[in-house]
Amino acid sequence: MDQRVVVVGGGIAGLVAARELAAAGRTVLLLEGSPTVGGKLRRGEVAGITLDVGAEAIVNRRPEGVALARELGIGLVRPSAATSRIWTRGALRPLPRTLMGAPLDLAQLADSGVLGDEGLRAARREPELAATTLTEAETDLSVGDLVDRRYGPEVTDRLVEPLLGGVYAGRAREISVRAAIPSLLDLAERGSITAQAGGVPPSAAGSIFTGIPGGMWRLPVELGRALVATGRVEIRTGAMATGLRRTADGFEVTVRTAGDERLETADEVVLATPAAPTARLLATVAPAASGELARVEYASTAVVTFAFHADDPGVRAALDVGASGFLVPPVDGRRIKAATFSFAKWDWVRAGGATPEGDLLVLRTSVGRIGEEETLQVPDEELVAASLADLAEATGLSAEPVDARVQRWGGGLPQYAVGHLDRVARIRAGVAAVPGLAVCGAAYDGVGIPAVIASAQRAAAELVAGSCAGDTGDSPEG
Ligand SMILES: Cc1cc2nc3c(=O)[nH]c(=O)nc-3n(C[C@H](O)[C@H](O)[C@H](O)COP(=O)(O)OP(=O)(O)OC[C@H]3O[C@@H](n4cnc5c(N)ncnc54)[C@H](O)[C@@H]3O)c2cc1C
Repeated sequence: MDQRVVVVGGGIAGLVAARELAAAGRTVLLLEGSPTVGGKLRRGEVAGITLDVGAEAIVNRRPEGVALARELGIGLVRPSAATSRIWTRGALRPLPRTLMGAPLDLAQLADSGVLGDEGLRAARREPELAATTLTEAETDLSVGDLVDRRYGPEVTDRLVEPLLGGVYAGRAREISVRAAIPSLLDLAERGSITAQAGGVPPSAAGSIFTGIPGGMWRLPVELGRALVATGRVEIRTGAMATGLRRTADGFEVTVRTAGDERLETADEVVLATPAAPTARLLATVAPAASGELARVEYASTAVVTFAFHADDPGVRAALDVGASGFLVPPVDGRRIKAATFSFAKWDWVRAGGATPEGDLLVLRTSVGRIGEEETLQVPDEELVAASLADLAEATGLSAEPVDARVQRWGGGLPQYAVGHLDRVARIRAGVAAVPGLAVCGAAYDGVGIPAVIASAQRAAAELVAGSCAGDTGDSPEG
């Protein structure tokens, strides 16, 4: 008989796990608590233009995201050559070449004006420093601590914070270097980072990111469609898993839908949910893993998307300046942490803004970092007003938007604290001790879409390998 798997969570991780398991011959029931699949890959509408209000790009240095899109027949596009700036020390400045904020070119760093004199003097000493050595007790350290040691604190404050903040909405002096940028630690352990810069692959924005015309939200939507078409996967939305129990021959999942609660049985279960719901579901099934998961913190953020009439006075001069947006270091005390000029970054967004009444320029700001939850505990209008005030100061923009849309991501981004990799190993050990159970998603091996896809592929492979190891010689299905 077919093995029946329940996958909990219809973000990209759950969908990919379902795909792999269906391909291995399983019958899959995928439960998604919200009304749509996709999770952080979500569509929204601003001034009649449909676009992403969550993730909007995939890194193509790893193959998984690009490969998945291609397999689904989704065309891919490069962003324009426009590059991001950094709004610091009162001006929009060019972003020097860095590895996640750690400078790779000290001359560019000096020319950028991002650092003050003292900060620059400290950074310039990096090539003379001996290789970084970790003490035996110090198996991991934060990105910020490593960069502080090599370049001085101003580099961490003005470069690493905004770049890491763009990915994790976290604090550089708390995020694990081993989990977030292991290559930076490898370089530092060999010697000067700047002296080895030639060996670091080029990181011009255009060369490492890929997008999907129409939006990244299309990836889960197309994937969901393809899964249902196999006849092996049922996707149930508006279905929240509220309990998980082991039974004599598998699992029982409690599923709550509007006005109804029922039990679903399964031979195998994949939990593709963020750490907090996963911890709750594992409370009795894998209590040690549950305890570890409960300690993974999440940052809340909001994305505010605007449309401006390009022909309004001053709009083009302020926004259409050849930049794809700008990052903002927390040390400068602004409300926004980044602005992405979507119209300048993606040709399909610019084209979508071309209307008979004139061109609309669409951009988005992001607000909120870990520990700054109070900045988000305000009405939408206040986030809009704060974003407009910062945009005005940074770019000179004074026009009123045609439309604005706030998307909140409460508990949106997991924080990989120092020691994260060891924690993940303990979680996986606790889960692996329960036959037929696996976990995947952004809480484990990387928050970027390719890493999340890889974690789902790994979870599915673990289940398939586990069931093969458990075979007694009877011919399995599939
Ligand atoms: C604003 C923002 C921008 C981002 N931008 C990028 C980007 O440009 N590029 C990039 O690579 N990454 C980006 N990321 C990160 C990336 O989008 C996420 O890490 C990734 O999509 C997470 O996928 P996931 O499947 O692990 O989790 P999620 O997308 O969180 O999906 C989990 C799903 O589980 C569901 N769920 C939760 N509990 C239950 C339950 N009990 N029962 C049933 N369902 C449940 C949720 O409703 C959700 O749909 C961004 C993240 C955010 C927040």
